[in-house]
Amino acid sequence: MAKGKIKKRSWAEPFKIKVVEPIKMLNKQQREKAAKDAGYNTFLLKSEHVYIDLLTDSGTNAMSDNQWAGMMLGDEAYAGSKNFYNLEKNVKKYYSMPYFVPTHQGRAAEHMISKILIKPGDYIPGNMYFTTTRLHQELAGATFVDVIVDEAHIPSSKAPFKGNIDLQKLDKLVNEVGAKKIPYVSMAGPVNMAGGQPFSMQNLRDVRDYCQKQKIKLWFDATRATENAYFIKERENGYENKTIAQILKEMCSHFEGIWVSAKKDLMVNIGGFLATRNKKVFEEARNMVVVYEGLHTYGGLAGRDMEAMARGIEEMVQYDNIRARIGQIEYFGNRLEKFNIPFVKPIGGHAIFLDAKKFLPHIPQSEFPAQTLAAEIYIDSGVRGMERGVVSAGRDPETGDHRYPKLELVRLTFPRRVYTQAHIDVTVESIVEVFEQRKKIKGLKMVYEPKYLRFFQGRFERL
Ligand SMILES: *Cc1c(COP(=O)(O)O)cnc(C)c1O
Repeated sequence: MAKGKIKKRSWAEPFKIKVVEPIKMLNKQQREKAAKDAGYNTFLLKSEHVYIDLLTDSGTNAMSDNQWAGMMLGDEAYAGSKNFYNLEKNVKKYYSMPYFVPTHQGRAAEHMISKILIKPGDYIPGNMYFTTTRLHQELAGATFVDVIVDEAHIPSSKAPFKGNIDLQKLDKLVNEVGAKKIPYVSMAGPVNMAGGQPFSMQNLRDVRDYCQKQKIKLWFDATRATENAYFIKERENGYENKTIAQILKEMCSHFEGIWVSAKKDLMVNIGGFLATRNKKVFEEARNMVVVYEGLHTYGGLAGRDMEAMARGIEEMVQYDNIRARIGQIEYFGNRLEKFNIPFVKPIGGHAIFLDAKKFLPHIPQSEFPAQTLAAEIYIDSGVRGMERGVVSAGRDPETGDHRYPKLELVRLTFPRRVYTQAHIDVTVESIVEVFEQRKKIKGLKMVYEPKYLRFFQGRFERL
């Protein structure tokens, strides 16, 4: 090829920037102090002390001009807001579920479905746990059992569908406790705790067939369903020419119902919902939502929030949008790869997960390597990520000991449509700098531990 000739065209974001929010970086001394004041927990940092915020993509997305315009059309009636009907129409159309109840965010829907379907003593198999999902299942009296494929626990495995359910593990559980003790299988994709790894449509069909045979329901945490649909399109035979909307619809057709945190795929700042094809479950949820959230036509949301969600659904299924979203993560991962930084492969859908066990091999898991690494990256550059390891895993409800997960990760998550490639470049430089200094880094001890979801409010000191 001639010198200077372009080999392959790049993609670029399918939008331009209309409004900006200034950000600034504190100096090193101020960052040291901010980290100490926050108990070395990135959840306890003040947002204004953060330069590039990769804590989460939950509710931190940039809405489009079309979504903002919709906010002005909020119908704030107590009952029967027209925005509710707009949202209901799009939930039916894109997720193909006939019944729908809005909630103020995803965990409110998790709370309701766990209470409706679970009896104390039940078991809930799932493709790895998600923090709030598992907690609501446990609070309803169930024991969560991880039935994800083994590769999901191996950061270096490049299997394309590490979010798949292992049918043998599922069958083993059914044989041990009996299908009657399993009200539903809880499936999510891409699986956050496994590094944003998708399940395949083939695996979903197999799980559905198995569940039908055993008379076990199948429910879907569809919070990141469009990201999963994108990976199916990219990686699974027979889907390359299908649209994201077609794949999403096919995925949803295999479930009895779904719960969704709209703060992710739908690119809004707040919102969630429950949707199902089971009328009885719907009626119970509609009764319950009045107690916990608000009337069934607003579920804890303002009319304007529901309008932004309705419009977000139409945008999330656009191919260019989801390709740019996942393309950013790929760019980030490919840059880190050049410097041999250890992270979970293949590159996931919403975040890069640094492998803290490999990054800081001299720090034992009891001294919280991922918590330590997240704090060190913040101190280096003001970039905020979060721990996904022993702190997030919490304690075993029976023994009271720490749960020591195989994966000890720092998650760096990109909000949708918020940061540019230059933000990614300075983040990479910071991680490389910390990697070069890694031998000098010491672990942490926990000095305050809340009872539930301790990663949010736990405090630490340097050893
Ligand atoms: C964010 C999230 C939830 C919880 O939703 P909230 O809106 O934060 O309450 C549940 N499941 C998955 C997969 C999520 O990403």
